[in-house]
Amino acid sequence: MKRFERQLSFALGMCLSSAACIACFILLVLTESWLLALGIDSLIFLISFLVVYRMMIGMTEPWGKVVFALRRLADGDYRYRVEPSTDRFGVLVPYINELGQKLEKTRQSVEDQRDQLNTIVENAASPLILIDDKKRIIHANTLFKKMFQLSDDELAYQPYDALLPYPQLVDIIRATFANNQPMNKQAVLAFSIERRHFDIHTAPIQLSSQPKKGVVVVLHDITELKKLEKMRQDFVANVSHELKTPVTSIKGFAETLLENDGQNPEVVRQFLQIIWKESERLQHLIKDLLELSKIEQESFRLNWETVDLQDVLHDTLILLKDKAEKKQIAFTVRTEGDTRIAGDSERLKQMFMNVINNAIAYSPPESTVTVELKEKGDVVDWVTADEGIGIEEEEIPRIFERFYRVDKARSRDSGGTGLGLAIVKHLAEAHRAKIAVKSQPGHGTTFTISFRKHRPEPPAREGEAHAAATHL
Ligand code: ADP
Repeated sequence: MKRFERQLSFALGMCLSSAACIACFILLVLTESWLLALGIDSLIFLISFLVVYRMMIGMTEPWGKVVFALRRLADGDYRYRVEPSTDRFGVLVPYINELGQKLEKTRQSVEDQRDQLNTIVENAASPLILIDDKKRIIHANTLFKKMFQLSDDELAYQPYDALLPYPQLVDIIRATFANNQPMNKQAVLAFSIERRHFDIHTAPIQLSSQPKKGVVVVLHDITELKKLEKMRQDFVANVSHELKTPVTSIKGFAETLLENDGQNPEVVRQFLQIIWKESERLQHLIKDLLELSKIEQESFRLNWETVDLQDVLHDTLILLKDKAEKKQIAFTVRTEGDTRIAGDSERLKQMFMNVINNAIAYSPPESTVTVELKEKGDVVDWVTADEGIGIEEEEIPRIFERFYRVDKARSRDSGGTGLGLAIVKHLAEAHRAKIAVKSQPGHGTTFTISFRKHRPEPPAREGEAHAAATHL
């Protein structure tokens, strides 16, 4: 701007001094003194040029300051301020500075709002996108990009319907554009080998920079909820089924006894024995159900103490002695090193009972069940190996599910409830122990549970599950 002021002043100086010169020159020529005329004229030109130039600079400088300040504001430099001055443009300075302050404040509040919106969108627990009226995804949070495997570059250049290969999702967005109304729909979307359930919410949104409305899309992942719902339904169906069998049997035999008074005492005894066995099965089932529900509760805590696994094993084998002897099954026990761990002795006994009881139940008579306790650095391994029927590879991950049985009839015959290993899995998680299963159908199964010697931090049950199953 300074250059412009100078050029303007220079031009005006030139014009005015030239005018003065011409006037003098004419005057002097009239007096017919050429040389004097030239000399005086040059002097006049020089003096008048310097005077006019100074004057013009003085006049244009404050105006230039104002124009310069306005240009800076127009260019977005809202922090530029003009120095106060006493010249005739000085009166404009406070207004220009106030304008700058207000523009700066407005920009700050727009930036704050944008930052807040970005934080909300980025931290939203669900994938979220914003589509403009030209069908471009103008904003997608990290969750969305991660879930749909889309990069910023891909998002920038293609319309949403070309980027999202999900007809159900595209349809609801289209419908929202067409109806100009919020919409909601549940859909199952496939991601490579996984199918996930979503509750899709869409709403039209007026974007300030665009004449027509865009659409905001939020996808709530409800896969876990659906799984839980299914598990609950299955569980209710399973419990009802498990209860129905013994109850029907008890009812049937009791009715027969009542209807046929004076029956052969031997038959009566047989019937009563069946009723007793079925009611015992019911009792076991209810006990296991109550146990499982207690262990699965959020408030469940172990009573941590130092426990020697040899003591737990000893107590368990005493309780299972009769059952093993009935099938002429022998126990082989081996221990190695210090077998003390941090745990809950009662819960550990429950785990030992369920696993070793299974080893007996699913083994042929006259076989051997080997139980080993081995210190291995920071852990103590408890290994139970039988020579029983074994488990097929694909069944192994499922045996820890509630009510899952490989052979239903065999499990029922052995008095199993189908809940034993589900309880073991939960208790292992509470102890932060790892479970591994190796099996060869027809040859036997080995359960290895690795306990940490020291109480894990943070307290058990607040961490992730550690149960894992492997196959021989
Ligand atoms: P159950 O009361 O039926 O034994 P569990 O939860 O204890 O229930 O076990 C689930 C299923 O796992 C059993 O029904 C059985 O099919 C299988 N299983 C468990 N332990 C063994 C084992 N040692 N050998 C073979 N199969 C086993």
